[in-house]
Amino acid sequence: MSDKITLAYPAPCVYPWFEGVWADWQQLLNSARFPHALLLAAPPGSGRRALISQLAKVRLCSDQTDSACGHCHHCQLFAAGNHPDIHWLAPEKPGKQIGIDAVRKVQRQALETSQLGGARFIVIECVERLGEAAANALLKSLEEPPSGCYFVLLTDSLDSLLATIVSRCSVWKAPQAEADTAKAWIEQALQRSVPDHAVGLYRGAPLAASDFVASGGLDHHHAVVEGFSTYVRERAGLFDTIEVLVAHYPASLNWLSHFLLDVLKWRQGVGQTIVHRHHHQRLAEVANALTTQQAHSLLRALHQLQRQLQIHTGLNTELVVSQWLLSIGE
Ligand SMILES: [Zn+2]
Repeated sequence: MSDKITLAYPAPCVYPWFEGVWADWQQLLNSARFPHALLLAAPPGSGRRALISQLAKVRLCSDQTDSACGHCHHCQLFAAGNHPDIHWLAPEKPGKQIGIDAVRKVQRQALETSQLGGARFIVIECVERLGEAAANALLKSLEEPPSGCYFVLLTDSLDSLLATIVSRCSVWKAPQAEADTAKAWIEQALQRSVPDHAVGLYRGAPLAASDFVASGGLDHHHAVVEGFSTYVRERAGLFDTIEVLVAHYPASLNWLSHFLLDVLKWRQGVGQTIVHRHHHQRLAEVANALTTQQAHSLLRALHQLQRQLQIHTGLNTELVVSQWLLSIGE
């Protein structure tokens, strides 16, 4: 199946924690030194897509300044959601690779002349998911970008990218939203108070945290922590625990990863950065039921199985998760 390319793009917005980066980009936009290949490292759920959309809107506007005029033909098309010169490529499903065919397609689009006589804007999301051939093909475009064409690449982490890709881009690492800023923003967006762990579980990704709370995630997370700690403490409720972990996969395993990290911190007496302060009783119980070494190997095995499940999408989640739970205390 080929990767989906769509002309739809998110609504432009500069969230408070990205204002510094945006101010720097505005200077570049004004100075006519705007790079033809830009790489932004920021986690998904941080508002990075909306920021890139804002950038595209301003760059495509006829005014060619550091803000969009809002009334030129480009701005009108952009607002209608169908500007023909912005091409947005992302993996078809989370965790899936971006194949060479999808990259070749955006390369063809990069070479085409703009239908409106302006710039073309190509966004590649989750660039760490480019397959080897796709990454090598993209390198050629980054080395010699067609005139009037801008490439913007988005990644979670620069560490997972080919050095050759990174070296051909102007690289920006987005600052992480401070916990207080993120919490205030989420509470304002949802018009309700949220516990600290909702922010801590989605550090640097306030939009993801907000989605988590809005979709009933607090209850699901609570069920995961209860099920897991009961199982560790009493070796009881194995099937219920498996069920709740599978029902909320993949988030459930991320939550447990935070929980086990907190268990280790608890055992080492490092209290300040604990995410699950709200669940201190469960944390203490699990910390007492496991040795430091057991908690370490459990966490390592969890990360390993998360990677396996992500790479081999055909794996049976239930089976893998139950094997992991059964290994506890071995
Ligand atoms: Zn305009």
